[in-house]
Amino acid sequence: MSQPTIPYGKQFIDDDDIAAVVATLKSGWITQGPAIDQFEKAMAAFCGAKHAVAVCNATAALHIGALALGLKPGDRLWTTPNTFVASANCGLYCGATVDFVDVDPRTYNMSVSALKAKLETATQDGTLPNILVPVDFSGQSCEMAEIRALAASHGIRVMEDASHAVGGEYRGQKIGGGQHADLTIFSFHPVKIMTTGEGGMLLTNDDDLYQQLIRLRSHGITRDPRFTQNPPDGPWSYEQVDLGFNYRITDLQAALGASQLKKLPAFLQSRRELAARYDEKIAALPLTSPWQHPDTLSAWHLYVIQVDPAKRLAVYEGLKAAGIHAQIHYIPVHTQPWYRALGFKPGDFPAAEACYAGALSLPMYYGLSDADQDRVIAALKTALEA
Ligand SMILES: *Cc1c(COP(=O)(O)O)cnc(C)c1O
Repeated sequence: MSQPTIPYGKQFIDDDDIAAVVATLKSGWITQGPAIDQFEKAMAAFCGAKHAVAVCNATAALHIGALALGLKPGDRLWTTPNTFVASANCGLYCGATVDFVDVDPRTYNMSVSALKAKLETATQDGTLPNILVPVDFSGQSCEMAEIRALAASHGIRVMEDASHAVGGEYRGQKIGGGQHADLTIFSFHPVKIMTTGEGGMLLTNDDDLYQQLIRLRSHGITRDPRFTQNPPDGPWSYEQVDLGFNYRITDLQAALGASQLKKLPAFLQSRRELAARYDEKIAALPLTSPWQHPDTLSAWHLYVIQVDPAKRLAVYEGLKAAGIHAQIHYIPVHTQPWYRALGFKPGDFPAAEACYAGALSLPMYYGLSDADQDRVIAALKTALEA
């Protein structure tokens, strides 16, 4: 009697989402139509941001975000090792050098004290970064006021990778509102908080960054007379003024995104209830549950526990045997072969490595029933006692 498997994360799609996509399919616009603008305006309003730019995925968003912030060959980008590789790769795409700031052992987010120390050394060495990419790991905001203040005092721009944190809050304000970052990045991959299939978004309050992002998303082409260099040949005219990309999202995806956004408050509430339920029911087990900084309200993309590293594999396998597919977030980026070839090695960022050694992401998604969550908790208990 095998029970259905429980993944660590998955999307939730209802009839309204399907109807929104079908309506767009029938509308005549399947790319670059009105649904993109509607989705962008709705998300900007939700977050309290002036501008939103939707793109084909968050990796593309990070790339054009770094470009818009002026990152070029020879420049430096710093991020956290405890993230998906895309947060760092965007620096390499621009020809910049990538380095990492170790994490806070309580939140697994970029450590403010490690950042401060590294900035002091870099000031002396003349190796200050141009861009900082803090990542709101698991959906919990970084200590953005402190990070922004440190960055600003060194003339560094901030691009917050909030791929995990759509709908999360910091000091009572929605992440993405632009209080503490030049740009904020969201991902709409199906395992994230809400989905467009593939998709990403940049939020900003800066008009100039916004105009650059619009161009970079679509080949660097513009028709806007403020940005063209010559008088138009005719009403058909356009000019390529930047080296951009085709990073556009489709209207089909944007229609799905706008429909999902209506459910975002319910998604968030459910994730917060599941987290509280885990907190309560695993409190007595030999593990560390996720610590929350009092300034934050997590979006709970992930529920990451720490177990004894010597037992982690057995616990993972025990869950799997019970039909529960946990995940591990993250293999520290600097230990990936591509980054080792750039000179990084294990031992460089010990807090991130320690976090990886015991980390286990338990199932967390809208639609996870109490009964299934209890199955996870029971299997975890059994696996820890084995
Ligand atoms: C998922 C993720 C990305 C990449 O998102 P895509 O939309 O899949 O390109 C970038 N950064 C972080 C932290 C992520 O979790």
